[in-house]
Amino acid sequence: MEKYIYDKKDVTDPQDQIPVYIEKFDRMNGYLVVDFSEQEILQKFIKRYDLQYANGDKRSMLEISNLNISNTSHLREGSHYLLPKELLEEGKWMPEPLINNDIRDASPIFAYRLNASQIPSITFGKAIRYTGYYKPNYTGVHISIPFLSQGISIDDKLKIIVRNVGQGNWNEIYIKDNKKIIYDFGASIRYTQTQLDGLIRKYKIDKILYDNSVPLMIISHWDIDHYMMLLSLSDSQIKSIGMILCMDKAISQTAKNVLSTLQKNLGTRLSIISASERESRRSSLKLHLVGSNKGILLFKGTQSSSINKSGLVLGLQTKEACAVLPADHHYSQIEKDVFPHLNKNLTYNMVVPHHCGNAGRISSTLTHFRKNGAAVISVGKNSYHHPFKIIKNQLSTAFSIQQTNISGDITIML
Ligand SMILES: [Zn+2]
Repeated sequence: MEKYIYDKKDVTDPQDQIPVYIEKFDRMNGYLVVDFSEQEILQKFIKRYDLQYANGDKRSMLEISNLNISNTSHLREGSHYLLPKELLEEGKWMPEPLINNDIRDASPIFAYRLNASQIPSITFGKAIRYTGYYKPNYTGVHISIPFLSQGISIDDKLKIIVRNVGQGNWNEIYIKDNKKIIYDFGASIRYTQTQLDGLIRKYKIDKILYDNSVPLMIISHWDIDHYMMLLSLSDSQIKSIGMILCMDKAISQTAKNVLSTLQKNLGTRLSIISASERESRRSSLKLHLVGSNKGILLFKGTQSSSINKSGLVLGLQTKEACAVLPADHHYSQIEKDVFPHLNKNLTYNMVVPHHCGNAGRISSTLTHFRKNGAAVISVGKNSYHHPFKIIKNQLSTAFSIQQTNISGDITIML
């Protein structure tokens, strides 16, 4: 009896096969991070391979390094596959030390790590189908955000701070100098719990939350580098956030755990949003304006197999300048669906999509606005070679480029 939902055609031997969700994959460097979609599958993995596991440990991701992967394996982030037998049988899975219980500092997300350099060539099969998504409580085309209806005017000055959190995203938006919105609350997948706690202290998040000065937090999509910091908040800190908006496609066990913690603490102040229906199978991925108050515009994506392209995007606009915080959405989506809502005569600033990695072709981004300002790259140590030189060079012809790994926290004034 399997509780989780994989297609029977794909998982033919549920006793023996271990389906996993691909969180991060870097072919060039043989680096792979997977998670389980259900707690039961992690438990099966642990039992089957007689691994050490502490009761109550919520960590579920597996980090595999030095992976010799065959050219015929086409792994896609955000899809599900069966773990190849060789990895299961020949791999020596090392349990991650318990947090605060070891001289080594531990990861808040990894349960086991594997150095796969000794295993010759690994072949993954085809992607398998999973349909067990979180049930949204919000599906409409207009999102009611009490904060947005509270008299923000186009005259108000806006300030964006892009925090230096390694390869991840954490942005803060201030209205008239008060912290009002946190858009994405992530950090590098490599950070340990001690490093996350250090960031909470450095940026005085505990104090800020207790002051109730964050009426709105938006998590663009459920990729760990966009929500990792939530693992460091206590229940009472979460309770002090006015409202959290997030998407329903929380697929990994880690994301589901976070989402249920949010639900427990926020109740109806958590809005779980589903992507818009696609008009037809052929139609392109759109971003729809779902909430706005003059200077602040919120967009949500259409259903897609890529969570990068179907999340929440934020647009900001004052009398003099505008900005887009696109998370990992593609340039073409921003150009087509967000630009028409912004005044062309303003100075345009942006956080660069997908940490200046792959976000499709740039076409009108360089020339649409009368003037361009800053293009901020939120980037840190990573194996993908972000920021891509070719994109950075292209952007630098029109924007002044700033990088968090060089300058630390970066402020944009609008
Ligand atoms: Zn990302």
